[in-house]
Amino acid sequence: MNVAEIVDQIDSELIIRLTKKLVSMDSQNPPGKCNHHAKFLAEECKKFGFETKIYPLDDNRHNITVSFGEGERDIVLSGHLDTVPIGDSSNWKYPPLKATEENGRLYGRGTVDMLGGVATLIGVMELLHRMDIKFNHRIVFVGTADEEVGMLGAFHLQEKGIMDAADCLIITEATALKIGIAEKGPYWIRLYVKGKSAHGSMPDVGINAIEGACIAIKYLKEIIPVVEHDLLGRTTVNIGSIKGGEKINIVADECYIDCDFRLIPSVNRKEFDLEIEKLMVRLSEEYPCTYFHEVLHAVPALSTKPDNLIIQNLLKWSNKIAKHPPEPIGLAYATDAAALIPPRDIPFAIIGGGSPSLLHQDNEYVEIAELIAAAKIIAGAIIDTYGKEK
Ligand SMILES: [Zn+2]
Repeated sequence: MNVAEIVDQIDSELIIRLTKKLVSMDSQNPPGKCNHHAKFLAEECKKFGFETKIYPLDDNRHNITVSFGEGERDIVLSGHLDTVPIGDSSNWKYPPLKATEENGRLYGRGTVDMLGGVATLIGVMELLHRMDIKFNHRIVFVGTADEEVGMLGAFHLQEKGIMDAADCLIITEATALKIGIAEKGPYWIRLYVKGKSAHGSMPDVGINAIEGACIAIKYLKEIIPVVEHDLLGRTTVNIGSIKGGEKINIVADECYIDCDFRLIPSVNRKEFDLEIEKLMVRLSEEYPCTYFHEVLHAVPALSTKPDNLIIQNLLKWSNKIAKHPPEPIGLAYATDAAALIPPRDIPFAIIGGGSPSLLHQDNEYVEIAELIAAAKIIAGAIIDTYGKEK
């Protein structure tokens, strides 16, 4: 059997069944309760003879690893077990916590982001095991808790040494079957502005923190470095929220702005932080408010070289199965790769079924054919790269 014939043996029914079951168990984050997902996957995977291990973050949030094969090095496949909240369920055409199958699609929270991706990876492992493909590697699935909020699960597993022997990492976040090899790093800061309150009838007596914040907003785009990444473009900033002022007739003495920077890999975070510090000084010189900031959340930006063999083979299989040109893409969002990879430089790829535009939306759905195609692309690339008999 050639590799194309082998990947055609993928168990589509298994992938569909696992996706449906995983979606039916609520793991909206917060609180991101996914212990039942880990337990379910452990029970399912034991049936194939795989080894499983659960790593609890706390009582409700559990990570899991599933592995088979022998070797000193690992091929690591990963997906997160939590989902974003469903929001107002009356906006959903189908019940969000039940994967409804219609016209070749599965509707429900987590179908695309990314319980369908988790099921895809178990499908890949089941195929490689059933077809008895020989590797010098262990194949390891890593299911993580809390990706949607703090990536605590992935950081926890990284600290436990899960990536110590990894030769590559493949994550099945939705890319519409394209091969993502770079991702931006969120860098969230809260910029505080302090002024002086006064009666609204005498604004000259006070110092208006809201006006001070408006000046800051004007300059925030100016500190974005001019460097560009060939797949990611430039660093961006979004002012996500602004809060300030108590009442219409009081001069606001406090205001803060939440800024969502998305850095590209070549931007040094310490240097960027210095630019922000310089901006605080410049603002204080221009306007009589006090300016300071705190970092709310920071995840590194990442990229990997397209000439790694596993990336080349993923591109080849994405072209073969999905007819995409064999060109990698960059992702504007961060994945667990940002927690799992550093400080190492392990080749990684993000490739999954489903459209990235459906992430975190009402009526989230995935085309079943795309989940199956993702499994074939990943399995084909793994066999071509690491299989002993090709
Ligand atoms: Zn996701």
